[in-house]
Amino acid sequence: MREELDKLLCEKYPLLFKDRNADMRTTAMCWGFAHGDGWFNIIDVLCWHLHHRYDNAKERYEYLVSRLGKPRWGDEVTKTTKFVTQEDIDEAKAKMDEEAEKVPLVVQVKEKFGTLRFYIQSGTEEHYNYISFAESMSGHTCETCGSPGKRLGRGWIYTACETHAQDDDWAESLKEDDEE
Ligand SMILES: [Zn+2]
Repeated sequence: MREELDKLLCEKYPLLFKDRNADMRTTAMCWGFAHGDGWFNIIDVLCWHLHHRYDNAKERYEYLVSRLGKPRWGDEVTKTTKFVTQEDIDEAKAKMDEEAEKVPLVVQVKEKFGTLRFYIQSGTEEHYNYISFAESMSGHTCETCGSPGKRLGRGWIYTACETHAQDDDWAESLKEDDEE
């Protein structure tokens, strides 16, 4: 995938891609995203799901830090106004750290036999469900441009739309569809 998209994912989801530039003896992530640009959206959405609980907790923590000693919301002070205390901030910090621990570490992202392979060090059942959904979507999405596509080719299997199919692979696949 092109560098610009690679960087974008690493910036948006820093905890998932902590090892992006780590040593090749410890991770395969040093090779980057070994697939075409067409799968960017699939990966972006997958990463959002794996990362968003931490992002929410972080946003809440930063908000509270910015409101220390002030009312929780707005500027109006009434008898029932609750003020942000250091305790609130510490609690939000603990929650944020807890969520950070749960974000899986990505160890390899590549194409194999025409579909995406997204490997994490360890994760929950929910994480693996999102990953397997994303991997299946890649088998229906052109790896080059992101348009709807299908797995094509013999021997060398790849996923492409009609425009990005090689030679007469697309025509062949239509014949096979008819036979089914
Ligand atoms: Zn295409």
